[in-house]
Amino acid sequence: MLLGLSKIIDCPGASVSFATSVDLSDLQFGTCAPAQEPVQASGSVRNTAGVLMMTGSISAKLAGTCDRCAREFQRDVTYPIRAVLVPEPEDEGAEEEWVFPLDGDSADLEDIVRTIFVLNMDSKLLCKPDCRGLCCRCGKNLNDGPCDCRKEPDPRFAVLQQLLEK
Ligand SMILES: [Zn+2]
Ligand SMILES: [Zn+2]
Repeated sequence: MLLGLSKIIDCPGASVSFATSVDLSDLQFGTCAPAQEPVQASGSVRNTAGVLMMTGSISAKLAGTCDRCAREFQRDVTYPIRAVLVPEPEDEGAEEEWVFPLDGDSADLEDIVRTIFVLNMDSKLLCKPDCRGLCCRCGKNLNDGPCDCRKEPDPRFAVLQQLLEK
């Protein structure tokens, strides 16, 4: 979807809002397709002293197999959109991640949402940011609670225990 910006392009202070859904089901991340349902993106583009700033958010249902605990999961994520839209592509050598070229007087929302989604995905696909993973000894999924493997007693703790007992 193209977002027409001709109304604000020469008009500092003006803004247009947008809301769209983008199909990213073809995105592959390892063996997973993390965005099986269309992602929702909304926000606005404001002409700030002649610079077109896009702000907003992307919300998506992330699905896949956790890289840490190997469990299938699905969770809601929200990624912020902060981008600068420029009339001409920058020099190829100095490509900024958050700068997007305009398509004539329009912004290519699908391209922008896709790029920001990919940039925001963690390098690992996790069922939750603080996934505890599997016990390296017994293989139990530690998100379900601690396993029965005994931890090695911490020698510093043993000294403290002796002090307390005195
Ligand atoms: Zn996990
Ligand atoms: Zn264990």
